[in-house]
Amino acid sequence: MSSLRFLPWARSALISARVPQPTKYSRRIHQIVLFVPWMVSLLLNGAAPLSAQDSAATRIVMLGTGNPNPDPERSGPALAVVVNGTAYLVDAGPGVMRRAAQAARNGIGALSASRIGIVFLTHLHSDHTVGLPDVIHTGWVADRERPLRLIGPPGTAAMAEHLTEAYRADIENRLHGLQPHTAEGWRVEATDVRGGEVYRDSNVTVTAIPVHHDGWEVALGYRFTTRNRVIVISGDTRPVDAIAAACHGCDVLVHEVYSVKAFLTRPPEWQRYHADAHTSATELAALATKAQPKLLLLTHLMLWGAATVDDLLGEIRAGYAGPVVAARDLGIY
Ligand SMILES: [Zn+2]
Ligand SMILES: [Zn+2]
Repeated sequence: MSSLRFLPWARSALISARVPQPTKYSRRIHQIVLFVPWMVSLLLNGAAPLSAQDSAATRIVMLGTGNPNPDPERSGPALAVVVNGTAYLVDAGPGVMRRAAQAARNGIGALSASRIGIVFLTHLHSDHTVGLPDVIHTGWVADRERPLRLIGPPGTAAMAEHLTEAYRADIENRLHGLQPHTAEGWRVEATDVRGGEVYRDSNVTVTAIPVHHDGWEVALGYRFTTRNRVIVISGDTRPVDAIAAACHGCDVLVHEVYSVKAFLTRPPEWQRYHADAHTSATELAALATKAQPKLLLLTHLMLWGAATVDDLLGEIRAGYAGPVVAARDLGIY
């Protein structure tokens, strides 16, 4: 049952399903009827469907926890904040739509292809954007009615225009052949932002946080505030106080990280880059000690074949006493 460690909300579902209610037999049977398929799905897929009771809660669904190096276990960087049946994607690394489809199959209907309607980009590195045409066009082929909303740093709108041009032949073919696609689903409504509040609706308020990622004039983290959770997502960055300040006791801090042990095996020119662009486990331990998240969730794991996830967790725990989990693809937190 170790997968329950990744599913704090599932633990409460399990507990509530076990509460004896001797005078309310019908309710208990109802709980068991809900519990059995939930348990089967958990065992088969490592994730569980959301019950009606859970649908209003805020979940983080990890769609890719890797980095630019292709790894079949870890897709490119992407996650979804799912609130009240709506998914808000952050980044669109390679593999994003296949992972989203698996999450939908596991019960997160908000991640079915046609329902993904908005993406926030942290920056324009390829490992965070190679899946973007997949989100745009696979969503359209799956019948998304409306244009995809896209929010990201300067250059985002230009990238969207260029992607539309790159797929012009496909768009023309689908619009003017026999395929009954929606009229607007291929479009992208893109907005360039530099920081501050960038989006608000009845589920979420999203604030962009400028971070420091070697060579990018603007790279962003994001803070999601929902009815029941505050989630801060670092994007790619070296340690910056702005992320610790944005978290300040937040529910979940999703932060990128590299292993110090693995870093020491890298050539000097790459060490110079990583130190300016990314955050070491030791640096993250210090940052999390300041930020005090209720959960520190590690992603964009950089182990370079020279360290294990346990090595990485050990490096974090050496300097940080709070709860920490290394995210896995399709994990729900
Ligand atoms: Zn990256
Ligand atoms: Zn990057």
